[in-house]
Amino acid sequence: MLKSLAGKTVIVTGASRGIGRGIALRFGQAGINVLAVSRSQADADAVAAQIGTHAAGFAADVSTAQGCAAMVQAALQKFGGVDILCANAGIFPAAKLSEMTVEEFDHVINTNLRSTFLSTQSVLPPMSKAGAGRIILTSSITGPITGYPGWSHYGASKAGQLGFMRTAALELAPKNITVNAVLPGNIFTEGLAANGPEYIAAMEASIPLKRLGSVEDIANAALFLASEEAAYITGQTITVDGGQVLPESLGALES
Ligand code: NAP
Repeated sequence: MLKSLAGKTVIVTGASRGIGRGIALRFGQAGINVLAVSRSQADADAVAAQIGTHAAGFAADVSTAQGCAAMVQAALQKFGGVDILCANAGIFPAAKLSEMTVEEFDHVINTNLRSTFLSTQSVLPPMSKAGAGRIILTSSITGPITGYPGWSHYGASKAGQLGFMRTAALELAPKNITVNAVLPGNIFTEGLAANGPEYIAAMEASIPLKRLGSVEDIANAALFLASEEAAYITGQTITVDGGQVLPESLGALES
């Protein structure tokens, strides 16, 4: 049983759907004040309404400095501080390398990696003032561990988050701010479902635990990294993938 985090405040980016929504709901259940952020105010508000009066929705594009600054101001106004950031917003459109445009590459890098830098930087003043903070990045197995055709830009953005994390963890350790990452495998979300039923079936078949992950699987890992019990962990990753990266061959999976 982890010590209660009730009364703390989290900003969850990309909270209107999928993994971010799962994190927002789980943290909300734990009594944590939640600022649920997405580009759509209505979708963010709907998640906040599901959590209750200790939550609010906020519309921001976290690939912009203005968006990140505004979301932190909103959290300070509504809840008086920011104890935890879950930098989760991300996109994964597919494009083969031979056809990928510069605009497509930049869009993925800006949404996934630049947002990690900007959202982390924007929570530093309140966390530094409080003398403590937890930053939890949603990375991926794709990039840091595996590759998948169509996702060279995505893989670069997700591996880039880990490079960012290691130096950020070092710089922020003296301020008692930890920075860690969760690496989801294939988690059933609206975004993942858009890859189509063939993709989903192929992934299910390659996961030793024989199911796609749930958003709760990721939210529980994020909540652990936010807990008091994880205070001495920084610059680390937790892979939550049902064992997907383990088999060296199809034979290893079948036996
Ligand atoms: P999803 O269902 O498509 O949800 C993405 C969320 O990000 C939405 O709330 C979306 O809301 C928000 N978003 C996108 N661009 C944004 C921006 N510029 N500013 C603010 N919010 C933005 O995706 P998901 O599957 O839950 O993935 C969430 C994260 O997990 C991503 O970082 C992804 O790389 C990572 N991940 C997912 C899986 C998986 O299997 N699902 C596996 C590994 C890693 P709006 O569109 O309204 O802004």
